[in-house]
Amino acid sequence: MAVSNGRRVAFQTLGCRLNQFETDSLAGEFEGAGYTIVPFDQSADAYIVNSCTVTNKADRKSRNTIYRAERSSDALVVVTGCFVESHRQELERRPRTFTVDNAHKRHVLDLVEAHLNGEILHPESLERDLFSYSVPDPIFHTRSMVKIQDGCDNYCTFCIIPFVRGHATSRAPEDVLTHVQGSLEKGYKEIVVTGVNISRYRHGDVGFSELIERLLELDGDYRLRISSMEPDSLDDRFFSLLEHPRMCPHLHLCLQSGSERILLKMRRQYTAAQFARMAERIRARRSDFNLTTDVIVGFPGETEADFNETRALCTDLEFGHIHTFAYSRRSGTRADRLQEQIPEKVKQERSQQIRLIAEASKRRYRLALVGQTQRLLVERVDPSHGVARGYGENYVPIAVAAEGISRNSFVPVLLESLDTPEESEEPVLRGRPI
Ligand code: SF4
Repeated sequence: MAVSNGRRVAFQTLGCRLNQFETDSLAGEFEGAGYTIVPFDQSADAYIVNSCTVTNKADRKSRNTIYRAERSSDALVVVTGCFVESHRQELERRPRTFTVDNAHKRHVLDLVEAHLNGEILHPESLERDLFSYSVPDPIFHTRSMVKIQDGCDNYCTFCIIPFVRGHATSRAPEDVLTHVQGSLEKGYKEIVVTGVNISRYRHGDVGFSELIERLLELDGDYRLRISSMEPDSLDDRFFSLLEHPRMCPHLHLCLQSGSERILLKMRRQYTAAQFARMAERIRARRSDFNLTTDVIVGFPGETEADFNETRALCTDLEFGHIHTFAYSRRSGTRADRLQEQIPEKVKQERSQQIRLIAEASKRRYRLALVGQTQRLLVERVDPSHGVARGYGENYVPIAVAAEGISRNSFVPVLLESLDTPEESEEPVLRGRPI
């Protein structure tokens, strides 16, 4: 435990897992330097907003979070993340706000320290560094993420990410392995492989599958989860790795649309038919595999017939979860310039239809697991309610009686029932340790 320097810092993270990972790492560094991490609504010497710009809604949330921080006191407000890349001029007009782009985010601690000590240090004077985030202590999460790549060269027509995260860059495999080794030494039991477009990982001779294979061969009692990925460039080797005992039987494979015509307009790198075959190959290896996805409805030009194809594919593929987005225009992208923008009302109706399909298939998927065993990784123990919660290897939420259970431990559990306290709440599996 570091000696306190009497300073308080608060973090707020918006957007993707990559941002979460980067915030966790930064929070760990601040703690190591003697700062006390406080909730964002408490008074602090510095507020760090790790922002997002992926949709208009994300922009709104980023902006509101920044205003909240600025209003709360005269503390230093640091804004980093993708909203900085897309709204730099707007932010630079705000005298209280200090911006740090993604390439220099890694240096936020140095920048805050300098500022609080009355020194002048510009982010651009420091080295660009996308990867060398330290392994955080389990402050916010029990799962440890490892960033293997950043940026994307796909330029899907709806997506702003290539403009704000830059070109695809992969991290050296030795550095990835060292990072994961460090996480295991800190006691993490689940490693989540993350990045902007991880299936395109390539560093010298090492591609994505080779890297995953190496990550599965380390010593220790741990499991490996792959976070959200694109359904392209997956080779046979990757499919066979899905059977590895350490590999979690869960993939978030982004479908976006079930219409071949719309996938082409989105400039995606696969067809709906190929996606369906991938799902089949995965489930042939493990029938209880949890396949989750993202779907965008209301992309410009999406007809009723296109939408029906998406609906049909979502129904057929029985996803364990669908993250549904109503298409949101992003200026600077090609889709923003397309004619035939879909009215908001139609987008909302289509979203609702996909949501209903998603809720039903999620329930069916989880119900089918009742009677099976899962290895629960305990994230929270709540003695006052006598319950411990976490996730099984299939990425399903599980609750068990708290007695004798400790956080960040593996507990083999027999799943006994599925709980849905309220219609709108997540169905949680109830289990019994065995
Ligand atoms: S693959 Fe497409 S959706 Fe994913 S980050 Fe790259 S451009 Fe965006």
